[in-house]
Amino acid sequence: MGIHDEDLQRVKLESDLVGVVSQYVALRKVGQRFSGLCPFHNEKTPSFSVNAEEGFFYCFGCQKSGDAITFVREIEHLDFVGAVEWLANRMGIALRYTDASDGAARKERQELSDLLEQAADFYHQTLRTGKEAGKVRSYLRSRGFDSATVEQFRIGYAPDQWDALASHLNVATDKLEAAGLGRRGQRGSPIDFFRDRVMFPVADANGVVVGFGGRMLPEGQQPKYKNTAQTRLYDKSKVLYGLHWAKKQIVAEDEIIVCEGYTDVIGCFRAGLDRAVATCGTALTDDHVKTMVRFAKRIVIAFDADGAGKAAADRFYEWEDKHNAEVFVAAIPEGADPGQLAEENPDALQEAIRSAQPFLSYRINRVLDRSDLDRAEGRARAAADSGAIIAEHPNEVVRDQYLVETAQKVRVDIEQMRRLIVKPPPKQNQTQVPRTRDHEFDEPSRATPPPEIPQVELNLLRVLIHESEIVKPLVLQPMFTDPVAIEALQLVTKDGWRDQMQSSSEAVTALIGRLLVEEVIGDPIELVSRALDAVIGRWNTELRYDVNDIEQLRKHQPIVQWLAQRQEEMHQEETRPAAVDAVVDWLRNQEPEEQANS
Ligand SMILES: [Zn+2]
Repeated sequence: MGIHDEDLQRVKLESDLVGVVSQYVALRKVGQRFSGLCPFHNEKTPSFSVNAEEGFFYCFGCQKSGDAITFVREIEHLDFVGAVEWLANRMGIALRYTDASDGAARKERQELSDLLEQAADFYHQTLRTGKEAGKVRSYLRSRGFDSATVEQFRIGYAPDQWDALASHLNVATDKLEAAGLGRRGQRGSPIDFFRDRVMFPVADANGVVVGFGGRMLPEGQQPKYKNTAQTRLYDKSKVLYGLHWAKKQIVAEDEIIVCEGYTDVIGCFRAGLDRAVATCGTALTDDHVKTMVRFAKRIVIAFDADGAGKAAADRFYEWEDKHNAEVFVAAIPEGADPGQLAEENPDALQEAIRSAQPFLSYRINRVLDRSDLDRAEGRARAAADSGAIIAEHPNEVVRDQYLVETAQKVRVDIEQMRRLIVKPPPKQNQTQVPRTRDHEFDEPSRATPPPEIPQVELNLLRVLIHESEIVKPLVLQPMFTDPVAIEALQLVTKDGWRDQMQSSSEAVTALIGRLLVEEVIGDPIELVSRALDAVIGRWNTELRYDVNDIEQLRKHQPIVQWLAQRQEEMHQEETRPAAVDAVVDWLRNQEPEEQANS
């Protein structure tokens, strides 16, 4: 664990769940609670609910529930300590650690990110006002990057000197190296990693700078792009440029646009598509997709035409299946990239995104577009090529649909076409990869189905949670029949039960999570009385089963009558409270006998 308990409690108490959730989900106030589209499963109507007062969330669709720490753990894929750190950081709480090494690691990460932050400032200021950056400013202007864009994306310039940044930061060389900003030169003094480049700061989803992409200037030094090397903070197979700017819009539109470069992202934003991100000098990885689906299920690939055509098809299908994503491809015109298109024809870029096609259909259309469908040879060729593409799709139903559609387009008999689409040979050690541990995190939506607890018991638990002072003395275990409800009752009647929720079963946590965000409808005492009605009904039934001879039944007759009278009174508002008290007393005295019988 490692975090000082006092600090942990403070984080728990002071976490603003609504504020945290709002970073990912557009919440609307509905009565006492907030509601929005669940970030953990795909849905069109909001079933995700937040109770601000209790600091608790619950999804009526996938039954995910918990407090702020649980939410951050799930959505940011962090462990417990990581989630507490994330929240503490947001609230400006300095955590103390019980184990010194935890603190040291955290301190080191903090130092690195401070350095990167200072570097981003330095590069940005240099571009804005530096004398040596004049040529860069005019170059950027010529490419359509006005000063508002430079501000918005915090674009910078790394001067054409060996150690401009190193001497500005003036820290030990190994720190520079750890941050990916410099290294030890041949003469022992530190030198900068980026020189004479336009600098794009790359941040994580929370906006913390983790590295940089540096673009060369015309006639500058190759390569065209240079990215921060792997560091403790920067992992190119995970980071997505632009995510912290775009995430709100991504969630709102349930769509994320993925580009290949920094300038493509900026171009998309300038064209009004402020839900774009880019991989930083690497192909799309499984981790990228995992990150993206946390924000949106619909992924629109906006690579240049060649890039999208060559993209690894089998991986895309695998991701769609594994991460429950939908991969679409924007038809960027041949020879253009999104950045360019944004500059020259923003409407065309918007249209390309709007009319993005599912990956398979995009690939088939590319084949058909290039084919000469007026000639028989051309049609045969097109049938064979598109058949090969269709065959790659792992889902038989999908294959079949495309088969029918494509056969019509290439005017080939369906059965003939079907023969072209031989089921792909099972790819060894790829399709059969066992779903490993982290698969559980991939699909949080497949949780347990909602428990089938009698409504009267749900109502009673709900009122017990929300109006504990009023009803706690009146609620007894025999009012419940469902085992999950009984477990929940045992939990919520303990002092400080909210802190003990973690150790309860998943079903109980989900149930309580749901009840916490639901509102009590009706008068608490009346809800108790309905539960007592049910108890009396059960008691009468059991009596009839248990007692065979008339003599016994006659002995019980007074109590049967007494209960019937109390039931009558419980149905009247004026007499209800006294009758409820009386029946609860009776029930309390029943308890030992019941236990003895069973
Ligand atoms: Zn959900």
